[in-house]
Amino acid sequence: MTKKYVYDFSEGNKDMRSLLGGKGANLAEMTCLGLSVPPGFTITTEACNRYYEENQSLWDELLDEINLHISSTEEKLNKRFSDEDNPLLFSVRSGAVFSMPGMMDTILNLGLNDKSVIGLAKSTENKRFAYDSYRRFIQMFADVAMEVPKVHFETALENMKEKRNVELDSDLNSEDLEELVGTFKNIYKEELNEEFPQDPLVQLKYAIEAVFRSWNNPRAEIYRKLHNIDSSLGTAVNVQSMVFGNMGDTSGTGVAFSRNPATGENKLFGEYLINAQGEDVVAGIRTPEHISTLHEIMPEVYDEFLSTANKLEHHYKDMQDLEFTIENGKLFILQTRSGKRTAQAALNVAVDLVKEGLITKEEAIMRIEPNSLNQLLHPTFDTEQLEKAEILSKGLAASPGAASGKIYFNAEDVVEASKKGEKTILVRQETSPEDIEGMISAQGILTARGGMTSHAAVVARGMGKCCVAGASEVMVDESQKIVRCKDVILKEGDTISLNGNNGTIYIGNIDKVDPALSGSFETFMSWVDEVRDMKVRTNADSPKDAAQAIKFGAEGIGLTRTEHMFFNEDRIPVVREMILSKTTEQRKNALEKIRPMQENDFYEIYKVMQERPVTIRLLDPPLHEFLPTEKKDIENLAKEMGLTYEEVNDTVRDLHEVNPMLGHRGCRLAVTYPEIYRMQARAIISAALKHQKEGLNIVPEIMIPLVGDVKELVYVKNEIIEEINLVFEENSSSLEYHIGTMIEVPRAALLADEIAKEADFFSFGTNDMTQMAFGFSRDDAGKFLGEYEEKKIYPRSPFETLDQKGVGKLMEIAVSEGKKSNDKLHLGICGEHGGEPSSIEFCYKLGLDYVSCSPYRVPIARLTVAQTTIKSKNENYGHIDK
Ligand code: PEP
Ligand code: MG
Repeated sequence: MTKKYVYDFSEGNKDMRSLLGGKGANLAEMTCLGLSVPPGFTITTEACNRYYEENQSLWDELLDEINLHISSTEEKLNKRFSDEDNPLLFSVRSGAVFSMPGMMDTILNLGLNDKSVIGLAKSTENKRFAYDSYRRFIQMFADVAMEVPKVHFETALENMKEKRNVELDSDLNSEDLEELVGTFKNIYKEELNEEFPQDPLVQLKYAIEAVFRSWNNPRAEIYRKLHNIDSSLGTAVNVQSMVFGNMGDTSGTGVAFSRNPATGENKLFGEYLINAQGEDVVAGIRTPEHISTLHEIMPEVYDEFLSTANKLEHHYKDMQDLEFTIENGKLFILQTRSGKRTAQAALNVAVDLVKEGLITKEEAIMRIEPNSLNQLLHPTFDTEQLEKAEILSKGLAASPGAASGKIYFNAEDVVEASKKGEKTILVRQETSPEDIEGMISAQGILTARGGMTSHAAVVARGMGKCCVAGASEVMVDESQKIVRCKDVILKEGDTISLNGNNGTIYIGNIDKVDPALSGSFETFMSWVDEVRDMKVRTNADSPKDAAQAIKFGAEGIGLTRTEHMFFNEDRIPVVREMILSKTTEQRKNALEKIRPMQENDFYEIYKVMQERPVTIRLLDPPLHEFLPTEKKDIENLAKEMGLTYEEVNDTVRDLHEVNPMLGHRGCRLAVTYPEIYRMQARAIISAALKHQKEGLNIVPEIMIPLVGDVKELVYVKNEIIEEINLVFEENSSSLEYHIGTMIEVPRAALLADEIAKEADFFSFGTNDMTQMAFGFSRDDAGKFLGEYEEKKIYPRSPFETLDQKGVGKLMEIAVSEGKKSNDKLHLGICGEHGGEPSSIEFCYKLGLDYVSCSPYRVPIARLTVAQTTIKSKNENYGHIDK
């Protein structure tokens, strides 16, 4: 049997996404639900892939199949595609498996030509409408299918309006539009050296090919990269019979969400335009009306739309994003899909749907993308500064958040400035998919035109980026690179602030503060914790970070990097004194000055963490990191320490290493200078004993970094234990403590069975382990890893996403070998990967007891663990329930 490449809408359903694309699958589902969907058919994603296999051409059998489906659509509507009196017209749209706003635009009114336009005028008794449709079609076809810059057509339209002395497109009459059609056809011929095609079948063939080609256009490629969409999926093409929103005052078109996509509020949200076609709403050329006003103009249509939106929401069990057209008072639904929403809306909708009994808690948990929580955790404007801030103007609150930055007027300038470390705001008349890279780099986006569903608004919400759209008082002059608003003029590089929650635009910078986490967030995260069966700790070096992490739900500290405590102004002189000591005695003296400060650090951290576990890592970096490098600083230091410049400079030179990350650092420091770790162990235990006296039961976890051999560990551990025993004796009391090691050096992973006999716990330091496994310097690899990503040698930086194949294998060996010799071995990860969703999933499968990550990633990690726990029930994971 030959393969089927074309499906009538009545032949598919919502579960056929991978074949029919999202749009096609949903059109099929709605057709089968009996909703009023204009008939049509979908050409599959497999056809797209075959188009590329066939050297980018459509093959005969496919064209035959398309013809059959044209016929069956003709029969349903009792109209013919090539009819000159009453023509059937089509819209042609791309439809990938995942919605991709950067891909091909729609072509409407396909099938019109010089003859059928006359027929259409007669059959509808509306000449103006017929020529309006034809001129739109020529422009769209030329722009979208043939890549003729649309500015030629826009200029011709503007000229015509000027000539007629009118302001709006809708003020042009049928003769004007007829004349415009002639002008447009001339432009087409001049640009392409061929006549505008009159044969509807040829038009359709070109349009289908253009959709297939658009799958690989640069915008689509950038979008796929950003959202990790597989480029082998291909796109489907939807060919649908036209209904017309531009037939007069009882016609119109719009887009609406079944709930508010910015807040999640359970209320219809959207906009429409009377006497317009779909692209007018999305392009933001005319400012649309709020959907609620449709209730007054066409109450029956409004009620029908509302009940359709509810029906679809119940059917799909999710908030829907709908496109509709009203043709002479009759409602048609052209698209439904799960609505893109802000993280706040996603949470509110998920929690509401559980309360409404539509979905389970577990389904709600699976619906939230862990990284999207980032949007909620990040700061909002400082209210005091906000009150004093000077308001420039107001636009639509298109995507929430708070952003400040220097204004730039095109995507390239934003990208350039961002590369230099500037915070930027992209300011545009209106955005288009070409702006995508600028939108990624900017802190926020401001547009003068466009509504809540304009390109800027939709894309910004998807990215979780603050956006104010349709600020109509703001005059954006992109060529002069200035903004005019009332009597204020801002130029490139001036700073503004945007409040994406209410659309306010401010002059100047406004500081940000941490958000309040309550309401749906709290409810949702409590469900997450009910489900989750792996712990989440945080990496925190100060009581402040620790407190923040607790607010975000951290269950302990997985890594305190003690060196970070040494880098402040008060301490660095004593640390330097310690490093520059010539004798052990001198070094001990200096350490004795540091000890009380360290003890206090630990005391304060324990106080914040209460009885939650706290893992403290002993000194790790190479010592030279603490020493000055500039001549002037060395001179100052020498003076402070009563040494000569030469003496200090010699030490600095001595400590210099060619390859410091593989040098004298980690436990190697303690092999040379055991007194450093002894001091730290004393501080850790003394602080815990102090709490013990005050009624708090702390069980310190002391972590030794960069171990490569069990003998190394034993040597350092014995020194520490000796010191701890002295502390116990001096205080006539004791407490429980654990000593463990980081697994960072590959050799330690391979010999984990030996090391585990001497360790209470392992914590995977996957930053160093990645560095050593790949042989990439973690400080320098950024310079060339981009090339590796681009050339798909390593698809993602292994410093961000755990390399499960290589580094993961070392971890697997360490876990199984370690557990073999010590079944009580406690396991965690504290490298950066502990906060990255796919790496967390891997750690879960390995059976680690916890992941540890920076405070702001704690909620992301909690959600990822919950999702992985749910998934593990259905898949065979090695994770053992604890
Ligand atoms: C690691 O190497 O993964 C780690 C957590 O330690 P650091 O980043 O401090 O070297
Ligand atoms: Mg490390």
